[in-house]
Amino acid sequence: MADIIQLLPDHVANQIAAGEVVQRPASVVKELVENAVDAGSTVIQLIIKGAGKTLIQVVDNGKGMSERDMLLSVQRHATSKIRTAEDLFQLHTKGFRGEALASIAAIAHLEISTREEDNEVGIQLKIEGSTINDPKPIACEKGTSIAVKNLFFNIPARRNFLKSDTVELRHIIDEFHRIALAHPDIHFDFFHNNSELFKLPPSNLRQRIVNVFGGKTNEKLVPIKEDTDVVKINGFISKPAFTKKTRGQQFFFVNNRFVKNSYLHHAVSSAFEGLLKPGHHPGYFIFLEVDPSSIDINIHPTKTEVKFDEDQAMYAILRSTVKHSLGQFNVAPVLDFDR
Ligand code: ADP
Ligand code: MG
Repeated sequence: MADIIQLLPDHVANQIAAGEVVQRPASVVKELVENAVDAGSTVIQLIIKGAGKTLIQVVDNGKGMSERDMLLSVQRHATSKIRTAEDLFQLHTKGFRGEALASIAAIAHLEISTREEDNEVGIQLKIEGSTINDPKPIACEKGTSIAVKNLFFNIPARRNFLKSDTVELRHIIDEFHRIALAHPDIHFDFFHNNSELFKLPPSNLRQRIVNVFGGKTNEKLVPIKEDTDVVKINGFISKPAFTKKTRGQQFFFVNNRFVKNSYLHHAVSSAFEGLLKPGHHPGYFIFLEVDPSSIDINIHPTKTEVKFDEDQAMYAILRSTVKHSLGQFNVAPVLDFDR
């Protein structure tokens, strides 16, 4: 029998990987904004047109890229964030898989403009399908701008599968909330079809929550805080009187990364037991800080799931911390310790 196995060409492999990383416009927003955060930016602009189906652009004032790095950044498994397998247990960045830009370039038109502080001019790279233009000099601010156009231009099934603009924009806003809440010290601007949806100046966490969800949120927040060997807990929970029938405002962040975790969610809900109106859900903005070597975030390409070594201890500590704050709130309504 003849040998029949072949290594796939890069662009095919990238397109396959893209299927997991990029489900919809919101996935691109997440990857680009996370890269901007990892680049040490203090100001990040998100510019969207047509709910991300026409344009997704992220402009940052971070450290920028050299020409070599810009060319490498769109290769698969190319990253500046880890070097060795051991680094996976000491993650301090949002990214580490080195596949977002390669995936996005495989399924959309990509335009990168970037300038490092020490360089007088910037450089620009355009990738449209298999056409990769030579980088050319461009006048731009320090930092990086990445524009993604015509998402899924070469995968009609995916493009047709996208939901209405209202639904896709909702997903984008959800991703934006998650990253804006995790980084209150960063200034964010978010434009959709030329109108500004969010303008978030640098602030503390409480102020950021209020700027994102509106002035009325302030009186609803109860601070929580705990410091143990296993985990440091910070953030806010909603007062029982202000809980909602929707599950909208429920956020866990582990080492400043938004994660979904039904086990920890249960810990919080059970702490609210007996305090909630029937059918109501607690709101929470909970930041868990743990030793990076005690978690595994590399469970899914989107990195929104996490495995804890000590999940039972986490559950117990979280539950009692929330209970404690709810109790304290009843006797001391003005208690506050801002992050
Ligand atoms: P990862 O974030 O996992 O490293 P990406 O494909 O998202 O992988 O990005 C590849 C590399 O490109 C990053 O490691 C980083 O060095 C560089 N990069 C991407 N976006 C930016 C940005 N906005 N500013 C500076 N460098 C960036
Ligand atoms: Mg990345």
